Amino acid sequence: MDISVVIPVMNEEGSLKILYSRLKEVLAGLGKSYEIIFVDDGSTDGSFKILESIAKQTEEVRVISFRTNFGQTAALSAGFKYAGGDIIITLDADLQNDPEDIPKLLRKMDEGYDVVSGWRRERHDPLLTRRIPSFFANKIISRITGVRLHDYGCTLKAYRREVVENIDLYGEMHRFIPALAKWVGASIGEVVVKHAPRKYGKSKYGLSRIIAVILDLVTVRFLMSYSTKPIQIFGLLGLISGGIGFVIGVCLVVQRQFFGVALSSRPMLLLAVLLMFVGTQFVSMGLLGEMQVRTYHESQNKPIYVVKKIVGER
Ligand code: UDP
Ligand code: MG
Repeated sequence: MDISVVIPVMNEEGSLKILYSRLKEVLAGLGKSYEIIFVDDGSTDGSFKILESIAKQTEEVRVISFRTNFGQTAALSAGFKYAGGDIIITLDADLQNDPEDIPKLLRKMDEGYDVVSGWRRERHDPLLTRRIPSFFANKIISRITGVRLHDYGCTLKAYRREVVENIDLYGEMHRFIPALAKWVGASIGEVVVKHAPRKYGKSKYGLSRIIAVILDLVTVRFLMSYSTKPIQIFGLLGLISGGIGFVIGVCLVVQRQFFGVALSSRPMLLLAVLLMFVGTQFVSMGLLGEMQVRTYHESQNKPIYVVKKIVGER
């Protein structure tokens, strides 16, 4: 199969039929084999009924229905798992993404990119609650992850399947898939895509997602740099803290022993003890982290590298 389109759906009954007919037209025009995977993320409206009836009439459509709402990240993750296409395309079910942009993404993929991300340059979402927070979020994410994209929140993206196969998603991580992909060595491209105002249904996200995104960003940053060597970061912090504490302590002891300076009125003593204590804690944390990492990788036979190809295979 050439292309799998994965669409997370939560209470989008108004747009599904139109989305499907527009999508079908675009995909049929490509002259490639394709499938459309709708992931019903615990919809409580008529979404599932509509999807079911579409899937029964057409061979190319599959529907995965969750028992309850597990979130957009889980929905995408399920779609990736079931997808059989060499290229996986994700888009929103609310018609804010334009199915007609898919050929554009594919052309960019043909240039050799492993991931192509949509950039909603003219975004039609509320200014105060969506566009302004997103503006800052995109700047911070691109700075911290080192993946220079303008728009992380855009669901319209294309991936080579090998890339998503190597990525595990948790929390609200779907925004960070390009960053996680870069981490396993993928090349990332970006194309400008259209964006439409939401005509049907309601947006599922408000300001509360900001905190979720910040926490996930911390996790991603940690995973990208230190997840296979926690002692390197925690040990270093511990050595710095403990070292400073130790030096201060030695100075205080010298002053006390040789110059008769009393220790009772010196807050520096407290600081020295605190720093050494924190230092020990950090080092122990690093060691615990090392054990965790081993359990994590060995329990699932998960290597700490990703192979691109092997030449001269046995
Ligand atoms: N969605 C989902 N599960 C959720 C939240 C959202 O499957 O818990 C889907 C939703 O149906 C839509 C897409 O994810 O297809 C993006 O959601 P939404 O349009 O509300 O986000 P926005 O465009 O406002 O950022
Ligand atoms: Mg939307």
